[in-house]
Amino acid sequence: MSRDLRVAIVGAGPAGIYAGNILSSTGLDVAIDLFESLPAPYGLIRYGVAPDHPRIKGIVNSLHEMLDRGTVRFIGNVEFGRDLTLADLRRRYDAVIIATGAIRDAELSIPGIELTGSYGAADFVSWYDGHPDVPRTWPLEAREIAVLGNGNVALDVARVLAKLPHDMLRTDIPENVAAGLAASPVTDVHVFGRRGPAQVKFTPIELRELGEVDGVETIVSAEDFEDAAAIDAAVAASGSNQVKVMVRTMRGWLDRPRTDARRRIHLHFLHNPAAILGTDGAVTGIRFERTRLTDDGTVRGTGELREYAVQAVYRAVGYFGSPLPGLPFDDRLGVIRNLEGRVVDEAGQRIPGVYATGWIKRGPVGLIGHTKSDAMETIEHLVSDTEGLVRASERSDDAIFALLESRGVQYTTWDGWLALDAHERALGAADTSDVERERIKVVDRDAQIAIATGVLSQSSP
Ligand SMILES: Cc1cc2nc3c(=O)[nH]c(=O)nc-3n(C[C@H](O)[C@H](O)[C@H](O)COP(=O)(O)OP(=O)(O)OC[C@H]3O[C@@H](n4cnc5c(N)ncnc54)[C@H](O)[C@@H]3O)c2cc1C
Repeated sequence: MSRDLRVAIVGAGPAGIYAGNILSSTGLDVAIDLFESLPAPYGLIRYGVAPDHPRIKGIVNSLHEMLDRGTVRFIGNVEFGRDLTLADLRRRYDAVIIATGAIRDAELSIPGIELTGSYGAADFVSWYDGHPDVPRTWPLEAREIAVLGNGNVALDVARVLAKLPHDMLRTDIPENVAAGLAASPVTDVHVFGRRGPAQVKFTPIELRELGEVDGVETIVSAEDFEDAAAIDAAVAASGSNQVKVMVRTMRGWLDRPRTDARRRIHLHFLHNPAAILGTDGAVTGIRFERTRLTDDGTVRGTGELREYAVQAVYRAVGYFGSPLPGLPFDDRLGVIRNLEGRVVDEAGQRIPGVYATGWIKRGPVGLIGHTKSDAMETIEHLVSDTEGLVRASERSDDAIFALLESRGVQYTTWDGWLALDAHERALGAADTSDVERERIKVVDRDAQIAIATGVLSQSSP
């Protein structure tokens, strides 16, 4: 059946799914296809959110309902730029929405960053969340680890590194990750922020959680809280109740008696990373310059250098978007160039019929909920542009499958995801360890495809 409007969305993370759902509720007679490079949907909710955050992972339940209605067709294992071009989509769809998010680490240019034992948080996150495109093993050999960054991803990384293995087993982590974490000899994880305790980018829940990890002691250092007047001024200047709560939480930790916990997470502030130190190409330590708070709310170097003996360094200094063939990219911000979701070229001229939403639209900041308001803005613009859109020439619902098949692309469908989802849940139910596991993820891409396309039945191992 030919619809009035045909729209392709690229990227089945929350942004793409919300965009499809909002568009399907506008009352327009619209066909929506949602393309995803992985065999499974949900983007960073499946491959970014920490496995020990089941409540957040639970957001997939409402996204599942949106896709299960059938008004948005999921087409997985199709990579834009490799399997399909913008021209391919424009021939078959009246509008294209790019929602490809961000998966790689922002860069940090300090000496020693290339040493063995210096890692990007995004790579580690992809490993522990079972992303199919990263190596299956991760070198967890360090006893002392530095994590650079003061956002929630730094806290996720520190917590996953420090948690006792049995605590992680309750989650959906794949077997190789459970085995890797269980063998880790880590004792101390140090999280470093360049600025002060009132300038953290954590959220209060994630921070408080750090103080409640079983068998792990969280330690803050009195010297970082000495300049109480400057910290209070920064809290007041932030105007944020969340900041006030977090500073209060951390000050509370200053007075707690030390315990004999097997593992520790240390939160350090006012430490600007200067160099990662190494011997024979491997990390042996990290050097910082101490900073102090200034009246304008920033920090200034003090000239005092500090070194910590660590055998691994994880930089959690932000994610960064990747360019896509045929689309204008802003190298500075790591986003597709756009004005409120309408894609524009280098000169700021609109590229009609092409839109962006989510992290690739506004940069890798903000929570899952923000991608919903983001999608609303983009869809509002698309709807108001509808009359003027140049109509695609090939309007059949099957045209895209004929193209993919002609190129030998082994795409997966919504039914395929349902099969894979059931398979992972069955693996969780069959697990014989003494904890209840809702699912165990299948990592290998070929295995995911085999299950999703019915080559490997649900009862197969
Ligand atoms: C480590 C980490 C932890 C987080 N924890 C939380 C949390 O606890 N709570 C919270 O609210 N938010 C959390 N967030 C933020 C949340 O994940 C993001 O706000 C949200 O996922 C952004 O959605 P998105 O759809 O724009 O991007 P993504 O979720 O990245 O989805 C983009 C999708 O596009 C696909 N794609 C990319 N390139 C292509 C291509 N060429 N062709 C086809 N498909 C492509 C990707 O595979 C992916 O599925 C976390 C983020 C990170 C990085």
